[in-house]
Amino acid sequence: MTLPASSNVALAARDLKHLWHPCTQMHDHERIPMVPIVRGEGAWLIDADGRRYLDGISSWWTNLFGHANPRIAAALAAQAHTLEHVIFAGFTHEPAIELAEELVRISPPGLERVFLADNGSAAIEVALKMSFHYWLNLGHGEKTRFIALSGSYHGETLGALSVSDVALYRKTYAPLLLTPILAPSPDSYEAEPGESPENVATRRLGELRALLERHAHETCAVIVEPLVQCAGGMRMYHPSYLAGLRALCDEFAVHFIADEIAVGFGRTGTLFACEQACPEPGRRAGVTPDFLCLSKGLTGGFLPLSAVLTTHDVYAAFYAEYSAGKAFLHSHSYTGNPLACRVALETLAIFRDEPVLERNRLLAAHLAARLAPLREHPHVADVRQCGMIAAIELVADKAARRPFPTAERRGLRVYLHGLQHGALLRPLGDVVYFMPPYVVTAQEIDQLVDVAIAGIERAVHG
Ligand SMILES: *Cc1c(COP(=O)(O)O)cnc(C)c1O
Repeated sequence: MTLPASSNVALAARDLKHLWHPCTQMHDHERIPMVPIVRGEGAWLIDADGRRYLDGISSWWTNLFGHANPRIAAALAAQAHTLEHVIFAGFTHEPAIELAEELVRISPPGLERVFLADNGSAAIEVALKMSFHYWLNLGHGEKTRFIALSGSYHGETLGALSVSDVALYRKTYAPLLLTPILAPSPDSYEAEPGESPENVATRRLGELRALLERHAHETCAVIVEPLVQCAGGMRMYHPSYLAGLRALCDEFAVHFIADEIAVGFGRTGTLFACEQACPEPGRRAGVTPDFLCLSKGLTGGFLPLSAVLTTHDVYAAFYAEYSAGKAFLHSHSYTGNPLACRVALETLAIFRDEPVLERNRLLAAHLAARLAPLREHPHVADVRQCGMIAAIELVADKAARRPFPTAERRGLRVYLHGLQHGALLRPLGDVVYFMPPYVVTAQEIDQLVDVAIAGIERAVHG
């Protein structure tokens, strides 16, 4: 019997012949079938054999308004027939101009300049280089270091990996990397007995202050993932940390880099997570970082694109006669790609035309209600949620919060159970999480949670 050339099995076999996948030990695919997807539709992915999978993780946190969203697809097609790409030095185009105008309009006040790049890690490289170069242009070449949080993830190119603290990605390459100063994460999961998330944040700000007292003179910036450290295990913290961080950065003259690559565009309940920084009495809510890095949801999950927003103050430090040699040099062949900019504009137009954040609040409340019973589960140490991100921490011993040995790969069992039952769940180690596209329905959330609970039941036993 011969298989059709486009069946799951046939495509998987061809894939394994020449491709090399990210975040993967390819040997695993001797026993775990690769899943060839041929079509997407709303929150669903459809494989070559016609099986359907509910995309519980928005295809690595990128998709907002559904796969093959017809409105975004039409905008992309129209742009492709008009202008697909043009060099972005000396030349410009309306999609990039409009995108910059719109990003400045919707982002925290004070961010006025938009520098484009083409993926999340590249945006982090830009922010790190720009911060260092700003201080250099001001005559402070002694500032060469960065402060990052424990458990942080900012991407996997060498600069971005340097300020990341997830051992799985960092350890091997450590000899090649810059050495950041690590500040303890305000992660609420690490609260002392009886300590509130807000008190954890306050305690961690105290520790950050101590680091700044010793290192501010050599430090360019503090870089954080606002509210949720995603790749580090969906660890969440109290928004008061962001307000305190802004104040400390001002006091010690270091930049605040907000990496909202994963949490931006409505994920945490507000358009940007920085908006939730707790207001001091008499002040508006929210903080403005010196650099805001955006990517992932920026194009609704259609195309790679990233943006770094910054202030007039930063821009002005580079603005001089050519001969002064102060220009910011960081270029990619595809910087400002018109297709990606047009798709981003259409994504942002959906936020204007539809009550996205209101709808998300209802969906998030539904998800929270469905997950609540898991708190009683003997192998669940924590159920946490921030808007449209929810996570379940699986452990061997609940009282001691002792994790399962990593070699047991319990989370992988949940992943495999999900695939067998029509759901794409891709735990981070033993943290099972939900980060669905915003077009998911309450019924689809029920389905995801049911599959996850059955998968957890299977994974924690035996
Ligand atoms: C995904 C991610 C990045 C890196 O983005 P890529 O496009 O994958 O390079 C950086 N920071 C955070 C917080 C992310 O989640």
